[in-house]
Amino acid sequence: MHSFNPDLVKVRSSHFIGGVHVAGQGTALDLDVRRPSDNRVYAGLPVADAELVDMAVQNAWQAFKKSNWARQAPRERARIMRRWADLIEADVAQLAALEAVGSTRPIANAVAWDIPFTAEGLRFFAEFADKVGGDVAATRSDALGMTIAEPYGVIGAIAPWNFPLVMASWKIGPALAAGNAVVLKPSELTPFSAIRLAELAIAAGMPPGIFNVIQGDGRTTGDALVRHPRISKVTFTGSTRTGSAIMAACAESGTKPVTLELGGKSPQLVFADAPDLERVAKMVAGAIAGNAGQVCVAGSRLIVQRGVAGQLVEGIAAAFKALRPGHTWSGDTTLSPIISRKDALRIDGVVRRAVEAGASIAAGGALAAVEGDGGYYQPTILTGVEADMEAVRDEIFGPVMTVQVFDDDDEALALGDHPAYGLAAGVHTADIGRALRCARELEAGTVWINRYGRSDDYVLPTGGFKRSGMGKDLGRQSYEANLRYKTVLVDFVRQ
Ligand code: NAD
Repeated sequence: MHSFNPDLVKVRSSHFIGGVHVAGQGTALDLDVRRPSDNRVYAGLPVADAELVDMAVQNAWQAFKKSNWARQAPRERARIMRRWADLIEADVAQLAALEAVGSTRPIANAVAWDIPFTAEGLRFFAEFADKVGGDVAATRSDALGMTIAEPYGVIGAIAPWNFPLVMASWKIGPALAAGNAVVLKPSELTPFSAIRLAELAIAAGMPPGIFNVIQGDGRTTGDALVRHPRISKVTFTGSTRTGSAIMAACAESGTKPVTLELGGKSPQLVFADAPDLERVAKMVAGAIAGNAGQVCVAGSRLIVQRGVAGQLVEGIAAAFKALRPGHTWSGDTTLSPIISRKDALRIDGVVRRAVEAGASIAAGGALAAVEGDGGYYQPTILTGVEADMEAVRDEIFGPVMTVQVFDDDDEALALGDHPAYGLAAGVHTADIGRALRCARELEAGTVWINRYGRSDDYVLPTGGFKRSGMGKDLGRQSYEANLRYKTVLVDFVRQ
Protein backbone atom coordinates (compact mmCIF):
# COMPACT_ATOMS: atom_id res chain seq x y z
CA MET A 1 0.00 0.00 0.00
CA HIS A 2 1.24 3.48 -0.87
CA SER A 3 2.00 6.04 1.77
CA PHE A 4 0.36 9.45 1.61
CA ASN A 5 1.27 12.98 2.65
CA PRO A 6 -0.80 13.82 5.75
CA ASP A 7 -0.42 17.56 5.22
CA LEU A 8 -2.43 17.32 2.01
CA VAL A 9 -5.51 15.79 3.64
CA LYS A 10 -8.31 18.36 3.88
CA VAL A 11 -10.96 18.05 6.55
CA ARG A 12 -14.32 19.80 7.04
CA SER A 13 -14.44 21.21 10.58
CA SER A 14 -18.20 21.22 10.74
CA HIS A 15 -21.36 19.56 11.86
CA PHE A 16 -23.63 18.03 9.21
CA ILE A 17 -27.28 18.78 9.84
CA GLY A 18 -30.23 18.61 7.48
CA GLY A 19 -28.00 17.65 4.58
CA VAL A 20 -25.61 20.61 4.84
CA HIS A 21 -22.40 21.55 6.61
CA VAL A 22 -23.01 23.73 9.63
CA ALA A 23 -19.98 25.52 11.03
CA GLY A 24 -19.22 28.24 13.50
CA GLN A 25 -22.65 28.23 15.08
CA GLY A 26 -23.57 27.01 18.53
CA THR A 27 -19.97 26.40 19.43
CA ALA A 28 -19.11 26.70 23.09
CA LEU A 29 -15.39 26.38 22.41
CA ASP A 30 -12.99 25.13 19.82
CA LEU A 31 -11.12 21.89 20.40
CA ASP A 32 -7.76 21.10 18.82
CA VAL A 33 -7.73 17.84 16.93
CA ARG A 34 -4.34 16.10 16.86
CA ARG A 35 -2.80 13.41 14.69
CA PRO A 36 -1.91 10.51 17.00
CA SER A 37 1.00 9.61 14.72
CA ASP A 38 2.97 12.79 15.45
CA ASN A 39 0.84 14.71 17.98
CA ARG A 40 0.44 17.67 15.58
CA VAL A 41 -2.75 19.72 15.64
CA TYR A 42 -4.24 19.40 12.16
CA ALA A 43 -7.69 20.91 12.63
CA GLY A 44 -10.03 22.63 15.06
CA LEU A 45 -13.38 21.23 16.06
CA PRO A 46 -16.61 23.08 16.72
CA VAL A 47 -18.35 21.88 19.86
CA ALA A 48 -22.13 21.70 19.55
CA ASP A 49 -23.87 23.21 22.56
CA ALA A 50 -27.36 22.22 23.74
CA GLU A 51 -28.97 24.68 21.31
CA LEU A 52 -27.20 23.24 18.29
CA VAL A 53 -27.92 19.69 19.46
CA ASP A 54 -31.58 20.70 19.69
CA MET A 55 -31.46 22.03 16.14
CA ALA A 56 -29.96 18.77 14.89
CA VAL A 57 -32.45 16.57 16.71
CA GLN A 58 -35.46 18.70 15.67
CA ASN A 59 -34.20 18.56 12.10
CA ALA A 60 -33.92 14.80 12.30
CA TRP A 61 -37.42 14.57 13.80
CA GLN A 62 -38.89 16.65 10.99
CA ALA A 63 -37.10 14.51 8.42
CA PHE A 64 -38.37 11.37 10.12
CA LYS A 65 -41.97 12.66 10.10
CA LYS A 66 -42.01 14.38 6.71
CA SER A 67 -39.56 12.62 4.44
CA ASN A 68 -40.40 9.32 2.89
CA TRP A 69 -37.60 7.46 4.70
CA ALA A 70 -39.71 5.50 7.16
CA ARG A 71 -42.87 5.34 5.06
CA GLN A 72 -41.61 4.21 1.67
CA ALA A 73 -41.44 0.59 0.64
CA PRO A 74 -38.52 -0.76 2.67
CA ARG A 75 -36.76 -2.06 -0.45
CA GLU A 76 -36.48 1.54 -1.65
CA ARG A 77 -34.73 2.45 1.59
CA ALA A 78 -32.45 -0.56 1.16
CA ARG A 79 -31.64 0.52 -2.40
CA ILE A 80 -30.46 3.92 -1.18
CA MET A 81 -28.33 2.29 1.49
CA ARG A 82 -26.75 -0.06 -1.06
CA ARG A 83 -25.99 2.92 -3.30
CA TRP A 84 -24.46 4.64 -0.28
CA ALA A 85 -22.21 1.58 0.27
CA ASP A 86 -21.16 1.70 -3.41
CA LEU A 87 -20.21 5.38 -3.05
CA ILE A 88 -18.21 4.66 0.10
CA GLU A 89 -16.25 1.96 -1.71
CA ALA A 90 -15.66 4.18 -4.70
CA ASP A 91 -14.38 6.90 -2.34
CA VAL A 92 -11.86 4.57 -0.67
CA ALA A 93 -8.79 6.68 -1.47
CA GLN A 94 -10.16 9.86 0.13
CA LEU A 95 -12.04 8.17 2.95
CA ALA A 96 -9.12 5.91 3.96
CA ALA A 97 -6.73 8.88 4.10
CA LEU A 98 -9.27 10.84 6.13
CA GLU A 99 -9.65 7.89 8.50
CA ALA A 100 -5.92 7.18 8.79
CA VAL A 101 -4.60 10.71 9.18
CA GLY A 102 -6.21 11.45 12.51
CA SER A 103 -6.74 8.01 14.02
CA THR A 104 -4.69 4.96 14.96
CA ARG A 105 -5.64 3.09 11.78
CA PRO A 106 -2.68 2.56 9.42
CA ILE A 107 -3.51 3.42 5.82
CA ALA A 108 -3.01 -0.17 4.62
CA ASN A 109 -5.59 -1.40 7.16
CA ALA A 110 -7.99 1.44 6.42
CA VAL A 111 -7.92 0.62 2.69
CA ALA A 112 -8.08 -3.16 3.06
CA TRP A 113 -10.51 -3.40 5.96
CA ASP A 114 -12.08 -0.31 7.56
CA ILE A 115 -13.60 1.18 4.42
CA PRO A 116 -14.84 -2.00 2.68
CA PHE A 117 -16.04 -3.43 5.99
CA THR A 118 -18.02 -0.25 6.67
CA ALA A 119 -19.61 -0.31 3.22
CA GLU A 120 -20.50 -3.99 3.27
CA GLY A 121 -21.94 -3.61 6.78
CA LEU A 122 -24.40 -1.02 5.49
CA ARG A 123 -25.45 -3.50 2.79
CA PHE A 124 -25.90 -6.21 5.40
CA PHE A 125 -28.25 -4.06 7.46
CA ALA A 126 -30.08 -2.83 4.37
CA GLU A 127 -30.97 -6.45 3.60
CA PHE A 128 -33.10 -6.59 6.76
CA ALA A 129 -35.22 -3.62 5.74
CA ASP A 130 -38.02 -5.71 4.22
CA LYS A 131 -37.44 -8.92 6.18
CA VAL A 132 -38.71 -7.92 9.62
CA GLY A 133 -42.25 -6.64 9.74
CA GLY A 134 -43.90 -8.08 12.80
CA ASP A 135 -46.27 -10.96 13.51
CA VAL A 136 -49.90 -11.95 13.46
CA ALA A 137 -50.87 -13.35 16.86
CA ALA A 138 -53.01 -16.42 17.56
CA THR A 139 -56.09 -14.55 18.75
CA ARG A 140 -59.81 -15.52 18.60
CA SER A 141 -60.98 -15.97 15.04
CA ASP A 142 -63.32 -12.97 15.20
CA ALA A 143 -60.40 -10.67 15.87
CA LEU A 144 -57.00 -9.96 14.32
CA GLY A 145 -54.03 -9.26 16.58
CA MET A 146 -50.78 -7.97 15.16
CA THR A 147 -47.43 -6.75 16.33
CA ILE A 148 -46.02 -4.18 13.94
CA ALA A 149 -42.27 -3.46 13.95
CA GLU A 150 -41.81 0.31 13.76
CA PRO A 151 -38.79 2.57 13.91
CA TYR A 152 -38.30 4.55 17.11
CA GLY A 153 -38.00 7.96 15.48
CA VAL A 154 -34.68 9.70 16.17
CA ILE A 155 -31.84 7.58 17.52
CA GLY A 156 -28.86 9.17 19.25
CA ALA A 157 -25.61 7.38 18.38
CA ILE A 158 -22.31 7.97 20.14
CA ALA A 159 -19.10 6.40 18.83
CA PRO A 160 -15.54 5.89 20.11
CA TRP A 161 -12.23 6.70 18.42
CA ASN A 162 -10.62 3.27 18.03
CA PHE A 163 -12.27 2.29 14.72
CA PRO A 164 -14.09 5.52 13.91
CA LEU A 165 -15.95 4.50 10.75
CA VAL A 166 -16.56 0.84 11.52
CA MET A 167 -17.88 1.54 15.02
CA ALA A 168 -20.11 4.32 13.69
CA SER A 169 -21.45 2.03 10.95
CA TRP A 170 -22.49 -0.60 13.51
CA LYS A 171 -24.64 2.06 15.18
CA ILE A 172 -26.05 3.95 12.22
CA GLY A 173 -26.43 1.00 9.79
CA PRO A 174 -29.17 -0.90 11.62
CA ALA A 175 -30.82 2.29 12.88
CA LEU A 176 -31.19 3.78 9.40
CA ALA A 177 -32.12 0.51 7.70
CA ALA A 178 -34.96 0.12 10.20
CA GLY A 179 -36.33 3.51 9.12
CA ASN A 180 -35.08 5.74 11.93
CA ALA A 181 -33.40 9.11 11.63
CA VAL A 182 -30.02 9.32 13.38
CA VAL A 183 -27.93 11.99 15.05
CA LEU A 184 -24.37 10.69 15.41
CA LYS A 185 -21.72 12.16 17.64
CA PRO A 186 -18.32 10.77 16.68
CA SER A 187 -15.44 10.89 19.14
CA GLU A 188 -13.93 14.36 19.41
CA LEU A 189 -10.56 12.66 18.83
CA THR A 190 -11.56 11.25 15.41
CA PRO A 191 -14.42 13.42 14.16
CA PHE A 192 -13.98 13.92 10.43
CA SER A 193 -14.53 10.71 8.51
CA ALA A 194 -18.16 10.62 9.72
CA ILE A 195 -18.75 13.94 7.94
CA ARG A 196 -17.66 12.39 4.65
CA LEU A 197 -19.97 9.44 5.34
CA ALA A 198 -22.88 11.85 5.76
CA GLU A 199 -22.02 13.71 2.53
CA LEU A 200 -22.06 10.40 0.67
CA ALA A 201 -25.43 9.48 2.18
CA ILE A 202 -26.92 12.58 0.61
CA ALA A 203 -25.22 11.78 -2.71
CA ALA A 204 -26.82 8.31 -2.54
CA GLY A 205 -30.28 9.81 -2.21
CA MET A 206 -30.93 9.69 1.53
CA PRO A 207 -33.32 12.51 2.45
CA PRO A 208 -31.60 15.46 4.17
CA GLY A 209 -31.94 15.31 7.97
CA ILE A 210 -32.14 11.53 8.18
CA PHE A 211 -28.45 11.13 9.01
CA ASN A 212 -26.84 13.99 10.91
CA VAL A 213 -23.43 14.38 12.51
CA ILE A 214 -22.78 16.70 15.42
CA GLN A 215 -19.31 17.40 16.72
CA GLY A 216 -18.16 17.96 20.26
CA ASP A 217 -17.02 16.44 23.49
CA GLY A 218 -18.96 14.05 25.71
CA ARG A 219 -19.75 16.38 28.57
CA THR A 220 -21.29 19.14 26.42
CA THR A 221 -22.51 17.60 23.20
CA GLY A 222 -22.87 13.91 24.04
CA ASP A 223 -24.79 14.56 27.22
CA ALA A 224 -27.15 17.04 25.53
CA LEU A 225 -27.81 14.51 22.76
CA VAL A 226 -28.59 11.66 25.16
CA ARG A 227 -30.92 13.83 27.24
CA HIS A 228 -32.80 15.43 24.36
CA PRO A 229 -36.52 14.66 24.72
CA ARG A 230 -36.91 13.81 21.02
CA ILE A 231 -34.23 11.10 21.21
CA SER A 232 -36.16 7.86 21.61
CA LYS A 233 -33.23 5.46 21.90
CA VAL A 234 -29.50 5.74 22.50
CA THR A 235 -26.82 3.49 21.06
CA PHE A 236 -23.34 3.87 22.48
CA THR A 237 -19.90 2.33 22.12
CA GLY A 238 -17.14 3.42 24.47
CA SER A 239 -15.79 3.00 27.96
CA THR A 240 -17.66 1.37 30.82
CA ARG A 241 -17.51 4.54 32.86
CA THR A 242 -19.13 6.65 30.11
CA GLY A 243 -21.64 3.87 29.45
CA SER A 244 -22.80 4.05 33.06
CA ALA A 245 -23.15 7.84 32.86
CA ILE A 246 -25.17 7.51 29.65
CA MET A 247 -27.43 4.87 31.14
CA ALA A 248 -28.11 7.17 34.10
CA ALA A 249 -28.84 10.06 31.73
CA CYS A 250 -31.22 7.82 29.74
CA ALA A 251 -33.06 6.96 32.95
CA GLU A 252 -33.27 10.58 34.05
CA SER A 253 -34.43 11.92 30.70
CA GLY A 254 -37.29 9.63 29.84
CA THR A 255 -36.43 5.98 30.48
CA LYS A 256 -34.93 5.62 27.03
CA PRO A 257 -33.74 2.21 25.91
CA VAL A 258 -29.99 2.08 25.46
CA THR A 259 -27.52 -0.26 23.80
CA LEU A 260 -24.10 -0.20 25.44
CA GLU A 261 -20.94 -1.72 23.94
CA LEU A 262 -18.31 -1.16 26.60
CA GLY A 263 -14.86 -2.15 27.77
CA GLY A 264 -13.29 -5.53 28.37
CA LYS A 265 -10.42 -7.50 29.82
CA SER A 266 -10.75 -10.59 27.70
CA PRO A 267 -8.89 -13.84 28.42
CA GLN A 268 -7.21 -16.16 25.96
CA LEU A 269 -7.06 -19.69 27.38
CA VAL A 270 -4.41 -21.91 25.81
CA PHE A 271 -4.35 -25.58 26.79
CA ALA A 272 -1.30 -27.80 26.31
CA ASP A 273 -3.12 -29.84 23.66
CA ALA A 274 -3.83 -26.80 21.48
CA PRO A 275 -3.20 -27.72 17.84
CA ASP A 276 -0.22 -26.00 16.16
CA LEU A 277 1.28 -23.88 18.93
CA GLU A 278 3.13 -21.71 16.42
CA ARG A 279 -0.16 -20.69 14.84
CA VAL A 280 -1.67 -20.10 18.29
CA ALA A 281 1.28 -17.86 19.26
CA LYS A 282 0.73 -15.69 16.18
CA MET A 283 -2.99 -15.47 16.86
CA VAL A 284 -2.55 -14.64 20.54
CA ALA A 285 -0.02 -11.95 19.60
CA GLY A 286 -2.35 -10.44 17.00
CA ALA A 287 -5.18 -10.37 19.52
CA ILE A 288 -3.29 -7.90 21.72
CA ALA A 289 -1.08 -6.07 19.20
CA GLY A 290 -3.79 -5.27 16.60
CA ASN A 291 -4.50 -1.52 16.63
CA ALA A 292 -1.86 -1.46 19.42
CA GLY A 293 -4.29 -3.14 21.81
CA GLN A 294 -6.83 -0.36 21.40
CA VAL A 295 -9.60 -2.84 20.68
CA CYS A 296 -12.53 -3.55 22.98
CA VAL A 297 -12.06 -7.30 22.54
CA ALA A 298 -8.26 -7.19 22.88
CA GLY A 299 -7.11 -10.50 24.34
CA SER A 300 -5.24 -8.86 27.18
CA ARG A 301 -5.04 -11.81 29.60
CA LEU A 302 -3.17 -14.90 28.43
CA ILE A 303 -4.04 -17.91 30.57
CA VAL A 304 -1.79 -20.79 29.58
CA GLN A 305 -1.22 -24.37 30.73
CA ARG A 306 2.14 -24.84 32.47
CA GLY A 307 3.70 -27.31 30.01
CA VAL A 308 3.53 -24.93 27.02
CA ALA A 309 3.81 -21.54 28.74
CA GLY A 310 7.50 -20.94 27.99
CA GLN A 311 7.26 -21.96 24.34
CA LEU A 312 4.11 -19.91 23.79
CA VAL A 313 5.50 -16.76 25.37
CA GLU A 314 8.60 -17.08 23.18
CA GLY A 315 6.45 -17.44 20.07
CA ILE A 316 4.37 -14.38 21.00
CA ALA A 317 7.50 -12.31 21.67
CA ALA A 318 8.85 -13.31 18.25
CA ALA A 319 5.59 -12.25 16.57
CA PHE A 320 5.78 -8.89 18.39
CA LYS A 321 9.33 -8.34 17.09
CA ALA A 322 8.14 -8.57 13.51
CA LEU A 323 5.82 -5.55 13.93
CA ARG A 324 6.85 -2.15 12.58
CA PRO A 325 5.62 0.87 14.54
CA GLY A 326 5.11 3.89 12.34
CA HIS A 327 2.95 6.76 11.19
CA THR A 328 -0.52 5.83 10.02
CA TRP A 329 0.24 7.43 6.66
CA SER A 330 3.20 5.08 6.00
CA GLY A 331 2.25 2.13 3.84
CA ASP A 332 4.48 -0.29 5.75
CA THR A 333 3.26 0.45 9.31
CA THR A 334 2.09 -2.66 11.12
CA LEU A 335 1.98 -1.34 14.70
CA SER A 336 -0.41 1.54 15.31
CA PRO A 337 0.34 4.63 17.37
CA ILE A 338 -1.37 5.05 20.72
CA ILE A 339 -4.26 7.54 20.47
CA SER A 340 -2.21 10.19 22.33
CA ARG A 341 1.24 10.58 23.81
CA LYS A 342 -0.44 11.04 27.19
CA ASP A 343 -2.08 7.62 26.83
CA ALA A 344 1.24 6.01 25.85
CA LEU A 345 2.71 7.39 29.09
CA ARG A 346 -0.35 6.16 31.01
CA ILE A 347 0.19 2.65 29.60
CA ASP A 348 3.85 2.83 30.58
CA GLY A 349 2.78 3.79 34.11
CA VAL A 350 0.66 0.63 34.40
CA VAL A 351 3.62 -1.50 33.27
CA ARG A 352 6.01 0.24 35.72
CA ARG A 353 3.62 -0.29 38.62
CA ALA A 354 3.17 -3.96 37.68
CA VAL A 355 6.95 -4.43 37.78
CA GLU A 356 7.12 -2.64 41.14
CA ALA A 357 4.44 -5.05 42.38
CA GLY A 358 6.53 -8.06 41.34
CA ALA A 359 5.76 -8.72 37.65
CA SER A 360 8.51 -9.41 35.08
CA ILE A 361 8.73 -8.11 31.53
CA ALA A 362 9.11 -10.91 28.96
CA ALA A 363 8.82 -8.58 25.96
CA GLY A 364 8.54 -4.84 25.33
CA GLY A 365 7.94 -2.76 28.42
CA ALA A 366 8.79 0.68 27.01
CA LEU A 367 7.69 3.33 24.54
CA ALA A 368 8.70 2.65 20.94
CA ALA A 369 10.74 5.28 19.11
CA VAL A 370 9.11 6.76 16.01
CA GLU A 371 9.96 10.11 14.42
CA GLY A 372 7.85 13.00 15.77
CA ASP A 373 6.01 13.54 19.05
CA GLY A 374 3.42 10.76 18.84
CA GLY A 375 3.13 8.04 21.47
CA TYR A 376 3.99 4.46 20.54
CA TYR A 377 4.24 1.49 22.85
CA GLN A 378 6.12 -1.76 22.36
CA PRO A 379 3.89 -4.83 22.55
CA THR A 380 4.51 -6.02 26.06
CA ILE A 381 4.25 -9.31 27.96
CA LEU A 382 4.04 -9.25 31.75
CA THR A 383 4.66 -12.54 33.56
CA GLY A 384 4.58 -13.33 37.27
CA VAL A 385 1.38 -11.34 37.78
CA GLU A 386 -1.34 -11.77 40.41
CA ALA A 387 -5.08 -11.55 39.78
CA ASP A 388 -5.48 -8.46 41.95
CA MET A 389 -2.80 -6.40 40.17
CA GLU A 390 -4.00 -3.33 38.29
CA ALA A 391 -2.47 -4.71 35.04
CA VAL A 392 -4.60 -7.88 35.29
CA ARG A 393 -7.74 -6.22 36.62
CA ASP A 394 -8.14 -2.99 34.63
CA GLU A 395 -8.62 -2.40 30.91
CA ILE A 396 -5.31 -0.91 29.74
CA PHE A 397 -6.36 -0.23 26.13
CA GLY A 398 -2.80 -0.69 24.91
CA PRO A 399 -0.58 -3.55 23.67
CA VAL A 400 0.04 -5.08 27.10
CA MET A 401 -0.70 -8.72 27.87
CA THR A 402 -0.45 -10.40 31.23
CA VAL A 403 0.36 -14.11 31.57
CA GLN A 404 -1.13 -16.43 34.19
CA VAL A 405 -0.26 -20.13 34.30
CA PHE A 406 -2.66 -22.95 35.22
CA ASP A 407 -2.45 -26.67 35.83
CA ASP A 408 -5.99 -27.96 35.23
CA ASP A 409 -9.28 -26.98 33.57
CA ASP A 410 -10.95 -25.72 36.74
CA GLU A 411 -8.06 -23.41 37.44
CA ALA A 412 -8.10 -22.16 33.84
CA LEU A 413 -11.80 -21.32 34.10
CA ALA A 414 -11.37 -19.65 37.49
CA LEU A 415 -8.57 -17.46 36.13
CA GLY A 416 -10.53 -16.77 32.94
CA ASP A 417 -13.43 -15.29 34.85
CA HIS A 418 -13.18 -11.55 35.46
CA PRO A 419 -15.03 -9.96 38.36
CA ALA A 420 -16.34 -7.07 36.26
CA TYR A 421 -15.90 -7.57 32.52
CA GLY A 422 -17.37 -10.20 30.20
CA LEU A 423 -16.85 -9.11 26.60
CA ALA A 424 -15.00 -11.93 24.83
CA ALA A 425 -12.80 -14.97 25.43
CA GLY A 426 -10.64 -17.30 23.37
CA VAL A 427 -10.10 -21.01 24.00
CA HIS A 428 -7.38 -23.04 22.26
CA THR A 429 -7.61 -26.81 22.66
CA ALA A 430 -7.95 -29.96 20.54
CA ASP A 431 -10.51 -31.43 22.96
CA ILE A 432 -14.03 -30.59 21.81
CA GLY A 433 -15.57 -31.47 25.17
CA ARG A 434 -13.19 -29.15 27.00
CA ALA A 435 -13.75 -26.40 24.42
CA LEU A 436 -17.52 -26.58 24.78
CA ARG A 437 -17.35 -26.73 28.57
CA CYS A 438 -15.28 -23.53 28.49
CA ALA A 439 -17.74 -21.93 26.06
CA ARG A 440 -20.58 -22.76 28.44
CA GLU A 441 -18.86 -21.66 31.62
CA LEU A 442 -17.01 -18.51 30.60
CA GLU A 443 -19.13 -15.48 31.34
CA ALA A 444 -18.50 -13.59 28.10
CA GLY A 445 -20.70 -12.28 25.30
CA THR A 446 -18.53 -14.07 22.72
CA VAL A 447 -16.33 -17.17 23.03
CA TRP A 448 -13.97 -18.01 20.19
CA ILE A 449 -12.74 -21.59 19.91
CA ASN A 450 -9.35 -22.11 18.23
CA ARG A 451 -9.46 -18.56 16.90
CA TYR A 452 -9.47 -15.08 18.31
CA GLY A 453 -11.38 -12.24 16.74
CA ARG A 454 -14.59 -11.70 14.86
CA SER A 455 -15.06 -13.16 11.43
CA ASP A 456 -15.40 -10.64 8.64
CA ASP A 457 -19.10 -11.21 8.29
CA TYR A 458 -21.92 -9.50 10.06
CA VAL A 459 -24.25 -12.29 11.07
CA LEU A 460 -22.79 -13.00 14.50
CA PRO A 461 -23.84 -10.43 17.07
CA THR A 462 -21.25 -8.89 19.37
CA GLY A 463 -21.81 -7.47 22.83
CA GLY A 464 -20.75 -7.86 26.40
CA PHE A 465 -21.98 -9.34 29.66
CA LYS A 466 -21.63 -7.71 33.06
CA ARG A 467 -19.88 -4.32 32.90
CA SER A 468 -18.94 -4.89 29.25
CA GLY A 469 -22.38 -3.75 28.20
CA MET A 470 -25.88 -4.67 27.21
CA GLY A 471 -27.49 -5.39 23.87
CA LYS A 472 -25.76 -6.33 20.66
CA ASP A 473 -24.09 -4.78 17.67
CA LEU A 474 -24.16 -6.73 14.40
CA GLY A 475 -26.38 -9.67 13.62
CA ARG A 476 -30.15 -9.75 13.35
CA GLN A 477 -30.33 -8.77 17.02
CA SER A 478 -28.82 -5.34 16.43
CA TYR A 479 -31.28 -4.65 13.60
CA GLU A 480 -34.25 -5.64 15.74
CA ALA A 481 -33.01 -3.47 18.61
CA ASN A 482 -33.68 -0.45 16.40
CA LEU A 483 -37.38 -1.29 16.12
CA ARG A 484 -40.14 -1.13 18.66
CA TYR A 485 -43.18 -3.34 18.50
CA LYS A 486 -46.70 -1.95 18.43
CA THR A 487 -49.64 -4.21 19.17
CA VAL A 488 -52.81 -3.74 17.14
CA LEU A 489 -55.95 -5.71 17.97
CA VAL A 490 -58.94 -5.49 15.67
CA ASP A 491 -62.40 -6.78 16.61
CA PHE A 492 -64.58 -7.75 13.64
CA VAL A 493 -67.71 -5.73 14.26
CA ARG A 494 -70.65 -6.43 11.96
CA GLN A 495 -72.67 -3.49 10.70
P1 NAD B 1 -15.19 7.10 25.85
O1 NAD B 1 -16.20 6.47 26.73
O2 NAD B 1 -14.18 7.99 26.46
O3 NAD B 1 -15.88 7.93 24.69
C1 NAD B 1 -16.78 7.35 23.77
C2 NAD B 1 -17.72 8.42 23.25
O4 NAD B 1 -18.55 8.87 24.31
C3 NAD B 1 -17.02 9.65 22.69
O5 NAD B 1 -17.71 10.07 21.54
C4 NAD B 1 -17.19 10.66 23.83
O6 NAD B 1 -17.16 12.00 23.39
C5 NAD B 1 -18.57 10.29 24.35
N1 NAD B 1 -18.86 10.69 25.73
C6 NAD B 1 -17.99 10.84 26.77
N2 NAD B 1 -18.66 11.21 27.89
C7 NAD B 1 -19.97 11.30 27.56
C8 NAD B 1 -21.17 11.62 28.28
N3 NAD B 1 -21.13 11.91 29.57
N4 NAD B 1 -22.34 11.61 27.62
C9 NAD B 1 -22.40 11.28 26.32
N5 NAD B 1 -21.30 10.98 25.58
C10 NAD B 1 -20.11 10.98 26.19
O7 NAD B 1 -14.48 5.88 25.08
P2 NAD B 1 -13.28 5.95 24.03
O8 NAD B 1 -12.02 6.25 24.77
O9 NAD B 1 -13.64 6.79 22.86
O10 NAD B 1 -13.24 4.44 23.50
C11 NAD B 1 -12.53 3.44 24.13
C12 NAD B 1 -13.45 2.56 24.95
O11 NAD B 1 -14.48 2.05 24.12
C13 NAD B 1 -12.76 1.36 25.54
O12 NAD B 1 -13.19 1.16 26.86
C14 NAD B 1 -13.25 0.21 24.66
O13 NAD B 1 -13.20 -1.05 25.27
C15 NAD B 1 -14.62 0.65 24.32
N6 NAD B 1 -15.09 0.00 23.09
C16 NAD B 1 -16.03 -1.00 23.17
C17 NAD B 1 -16.47 -1.66 22.03
C18 NAD B 1 -17.47 -2.80 22.10
O14 NAD B 1 -17.99 -3.20 21.06
N7 NAD B 1 -17.80 -3.31 23.28
C19 NAD B 1 -15.95 -1.31 20.79
C20 NAD B 1 -15.00 -0.29 20.72
C21 NAD B 1 -14.58 0.36 21.89
